[in-house]
Amino acid sequence: MNDQKDTPKVGDDGDVLDKVISLTKRRGFIFQSSEIYGGLKSAYDYGPLGAELKRNIANEWWRSMVHQREDIVGIDASIMMHPAVWKASGHLATFSDPLVDCLNCKERFRADKAPRVAPGTPTKFRKGGTRDGQHLDGVVGSAGYVCPSCGASELSAERQFNLMFRTSIGPVDPLEVLMQELEGKALDRKTLREKFEAAVQSSAIYLRPETAQAMFVQFLNVQQTSGMKVPFGIAQIGKSFRNEITTEHFVFRTCEFEQMEMEFFVEPGTQKEWHAHWINERSSWWKRYMNDQSALRVEHTEKKDLAHYADAGADIQYRYPWGWDELEGIASRTNYDLNKHSEHSGAKLTYFDQNKPDPDSAKMGWRYTPFVVEPAAGLTRAALMFLLDAYYEERGVDADGAEKVRVVLRLHPRLAPVKIAILPLLKKDGLPEIARSIVTRFSAAGINARYDEQHSIGKRYARHDEIGTPYCLTIDHQSQSDQTVTIRDRDTTKQERISIDKALEIVQARLAQ
Ligand code: ATP
Repeated sequence: MNDQKDTPKVGDDGDVLDKVISLTKRRGFIFQSSEIYGGLKSAYDYGPLGAELKRNIANEWWRSMVHQREDIVGIDASIMMHPAVWKASGHLATFSDPLVDCLNCKERFRADKAPRVAPGTPTKFRKGGTRDGQHLDGVVGSAGYVCPSCGASELSAERQFNLMFRTSIGPVDPLEVLMQELEGKALDRKTLREKFEAAVQSSAIYLRPETAQAMFVQFLNVQQTSGMKVPFGIAQIGKSFRNEITTEHFVFRTCEFEQMEMEFFVEPGTQKEWHAHWINERSSWWKRYMNDQSALRVEHTEKKDLAHYADAGADIQYRYPWGWDELEGIASRTNYDLNKHSEHSGAKLTYFDQNKPDPDSAKMGWRYTPFVVEPAAGLTRAALMFLLDAYYEERGVDADGAEKVRVVLRLHPRLAPVKIAILPLLKKDGLPEIARSIVTRFSAAGINARYDEQHSIGKRYARHDEIGTPYCLTIDHQSQSDQTVTIRDRDTTKQERISIDKALEIVQARLAQ
């Protein structure tokens, strides 16, 4: 959609991430959570435009994954699940990241994300990690990395840190009960710890760290009530929570985020082809909405880096301002999850295909545990990616010959929060009335149109360029005499005169493209 590919994306006066963060705050896309209380670290609220953007991305995903496919159905499961789910899935035992403390600057970080340096390499860093700290020399240890913040090689041992948020359910506070039980008793540290752990566990539940498990746990209910035949998928969009050691890059990695995940259940032995199919499908989906398709790539996971339950994996990555990083993971999860939930719950999470012979007995009818291919994307991460991809600065000159910069969000029209701005040239002479009647027509057709009469027409165009509104309709005095308006295109800034009666039809056709 970008027909000005030669224009540099941004000027050389700063990082595109900083510019996008500033724009999202200024225009009401994303705010710091609890800002008036000083903010909560790495928690964000989506403002009026951000909420629309996120909803539009989710709707496009749902349309392509659920509405346009006969072989996928959607669910909306609860965030809190039975604690046994997390035991069976392995999250309680293994959903952890290696946490390390820097003994020099006290930074806490993930070992697997730290800068790699060959063991034995000499390092230089400053005491305390401060700019004016004394210069120190070190040597990289056997772990083979240094502190991402100060570069020091003096680090604590790695500890596994479970990322699930734990809370308790029910009206009884287990710690209150324990306090009463312990009154007057002198117990050693180990016994005390065991008692505390048992008390907490008695009512512990977890905020889901991924949406996927509900699709496994509800496999039979969904398959039977919807009459789905393998291969088929279950899709879901929803919140997930991870107590991340390092939150980073604005909404890229946060503790509360949203995911768009789909579990695709396939016949054993066919997972390889389906994995390739979903990598293609999902890459094309992202590209359909992007300006710079060269900023997307697929990285296949090496065998040694696969999760223990996976037989193949790939990441769809985006070239963020800090480098290539994950946007969506596509895992071939084998039959691990259904098997584990069958074992732990006693439910038979299998599928019976009466038209296929059992490979062992050669008799007609085959009962098997389906294999699973999972495309798992971040919705909040997608919002950041689309904002970064859409941000352009165009240099030009104004009517007086002075240099000016036009900031424009080239969001795909289907993702744009506002589809069309309806602008009366003046706040009088009957122009607002015509404008409002046009807004009503668009709204009735389900198109988010905004009436805007504040400031000069030039400022209004600039404001709508900055929030990514693809079209502006301007109502002027001619509109009264010949029932026409001008329609301005955000990307080309070209204007054409069209009849008011045709406006809705024209915009609908462009949005459908
Ligand atoms: P990463 O390697 O970035 O930690 P992951 O491999 O743990 O991600 P998955 O468990 O595969 O991520 O989750 C699927 C998708 O959910 C990711 O590709 C990402 O888009 C999104 N996601 C995961 N963790 C977060 C987070 N903390 N904040 C925002 N989005 C996230």
